[in-house]
This record gives sequence, structure tokens and C-alpha cells, in this order.
Amino acid sequence: MPEDPLSGPPGLPGPLGLLGGTFDPIHFGHLRLAEEAREALDLAAVHWIPAGQPPHRQAPRVAATHRLEMVRRALAGNPAFTVDDAEMRATAPSYTVTTLERLRAASDRRPLVLLMGADAFLELATWHRWRDLFTLAHIGVATRPGFELSAEAFPAELAEACAQRLERNPDALREAPAGRVVAFAMTPLAISASLLRTRLAAGQSVRYLLPDPVREYIDQHYLYRMPDGR
Ligand code: ATP
Repeated sequence: MPEDPLSGPPGLPGPLGLLGGTFDPIHFGHLRLAEEAREALDLAAVHWIPAGQPPHRQAPRVAATHRLEMVRRALAGNPAFTVDDAEMRATAPSYTVTTLERLRAASDRRPLVLLMGADAFLELATWHRWRDLFTLAHIGVATRPGFELSAEAFPAELAEACAQRLERNPDALREAPAGRVVAFAMTPLAISASLLRTRLAAGQSVRYLLPDPVREYIDQHYLYRMPDGR
């Protein structure tokens, strides 16, 4: 019987990491974020959630089917990583809060940890129903080159919402299903999907910035050949 991704590998009832993104395309920054979060926060698994049409940013450059396939190729062979295509299949724009409501309903009181880089976290107060996110999941924030992750750098609303939630010890994530915020340092990788799109449009190499099967897929399907104007 296929394993239920929300219950994680058998015998490991640890917190489940959730990583959303446009993955346009997926790259080693995303993969190291998930891998180092798994290690630093002692997650049983990381559930990847590619966005269909994200409401708060420009439309992704390539179709959902291509982005999903690239994610699948990048994660292949790692039993701790699973893919959730529900946001991609949805016809309406998906909000993280509604995705978390669905996953929370399916995972009982299991700790869920919404993973993100420092850039995304610093913009959290602009997300739809952002305060509800804390009632549904913990948040695990990874350092990212170019973004300062000190409490002084937080916008005021975010600082206030997080004041009682920040935890230094990741063990705190096991004590409740949701509500804590933990930052962790990851290997600094100044790789972004925008950088990759720019290089691809200029005909430059992206080798060693993303997994080979993803690079091969991009080549086979002639993706990102035109400048995207961003
Ligand atoms: P773009 O350049 O198109 O904005 P991106 O590379 O930031 O894309 P997203 O799909 O928007 O990729 O990111 C998904 C998540 O991964 C976000 O939470 C983002 O902060 C995080 N992330 C992406 N790249 C890195 C990186 N190099 N280091 C740390 N976190 C990262």
C-alpha cells in the first residue's frame, strides 16, 4: 500500500516539514533548504507543495505541469521528500493558509513546520490571513544570502506577532502542533530561480546550480529561452 505522505515514514512520528514555492525552476537552494531543515529541525519528512498561480506575485514563467515535473525529477530517490500537487491542480489561486487548513485536517495533532527562506519570512505580514498561519503550523526560517534575519530587521507587525513565538531550541517544535517560530542557519547559496531564468535566457550555463535531470528537462523542452522581463 502506498505510504500516506502526511503520516511520514513508519515509526518516525516527528514533525513534518512543508515547503511551498513556485519552483520556476527548482534549484539547489531549495533542495539544501529542505535537506538542512530536515536535519536541523529533526523533521521526519519534507512535503513539497509547488504553487499553481500564487496570488501575491507575477505568474510563473513556465506551466504548472513543467514545474511539477522538474520538482519530481529533482526529488526522485529521496524517500524523505514527497510532492503534493493539490495547489497545482486547483483552478483558483491557492493561498498558503487554505493549504495548511487542508493539511492540518489530514494530520490530526502532528506538528507541521512551514519552511521558508528569510526573504519570504520578512514578507509574511503581506500574506492572506497571515496571523492564522501560526494556529495551523510552526514556521522554520532558513537564512538566505542578502536577507538579514535579526528581530530588528522584522517589520513591526511581524516582530510583534513573533515576540512570544521565537524559539532557539528546535525541540520546541515537538511540544505543540503549531505556533512556534524557529530560525536555522543553512549553507549560504546565493542561487535564485530568477538568476537561473536570466542565465538560461542569455544562453549561459546553469550546470551545478540545479540537478542534472532538471537541466536536461529544461533543455529538452526549450524552457526559459526568452528574457522574462523581471
Ligand atoms: P524567484 O527568484 O523566482 O523569486 P526563488 O529562487 O526565491 O524564486 P521560490 O520558489 O520563490 O524560489 O522559493 C521557495 C522558497 O525557497 C522560499 O521560501 C524561498 O525563500 C526559499 N529559497 C529559495 N532559494 C533559496 C536560497 N538560495 N536560500 C534559502 N532559501 C531559498
